[in-house]
Amino acid sequence: MATEMLFRDDAYLRSASARVLAVTERGIELDRTVFYPLGGGQAGDTGRLLRAEGDAVAIIDTRKADTPDRVVHLPAPGSPLPQPGETVTLELDWPRRYRLMRLHTALHLLSCVVTAPVTGGNITPEKGRLDFDIDLSQLNAERIERETNALIAAGAITETAWISDAELDAQPDLVKTMSVQPPRGAGRVRLLRIPGIDLQPCGGTHVADIAEIEGIRVLKIRSEGKHNKRVEIALSGSD
Ligand SMILES: [Zn+2]
Repeated sequence: MATEMLFRDDAYLRSASARVLAVTERGIELDRTVFYPLGGGQAGDTGRLLRAEGDAVAIIDTRKADTPDRVVHLPAPGSPLPQPGETVTLELDWPRRYRLMRLHTALHLLSCVVTAPVTGGNITPEKGRLDFDIDLSQLNAERIERETNALIAAGAITETAWISDAELDAQPDLVKTMSVQPPRGAGRVRLLRIPGIDLQPCGGTHVADIAEIEGIRVLKIRSEGKHNKRVEIALSGSD
């Protein structure tokens, strides 16, 4: 049985009740979740799982199960584990996830400010990075900050849409990130559109309005190889 991924339709859901499908050595599988599993360069969510009788189980990471339509919640070692069939309440570590959403959406903007093929990417709660296939001399931290922050200041409502695998195959230019395959499944692919700025397949979690990012700063620009010139950013105002 697949896990219903509630964050796909509403990234702002912080809590949900769910039924335990299985408890394995890998972790806890539920019939639905608000926890994003590690993927597409975005870190897995953390938080708590509350049992009906009051036990709280710390969830230290979230991963895809053996099949990508199922999600495993990793409990802290030694936690009291729920039983299959039990109804539990999930509570997301929302401040952490919101930083991930803001940084993730900022990387979409970065991929438009820097016009070069993306060869890698990663997002943690502290920082995000994209690697570009570009000459290092073309990357200017001051310009990247100024142009990205101008987009953020102007604001734009993000939209998700779904297209079929066949429609995506007919538009290969949509896929910017060579190292991350679009999230396929059930014959359809999820797209993230920032009107007038960006459109690409993405299964991650995004802010509703890019103005919520507030601002970014460039931490580092450096070479990580012939085809990987890395731009690392943080949210402005964070350490
Ligand atoms: Zn995305």
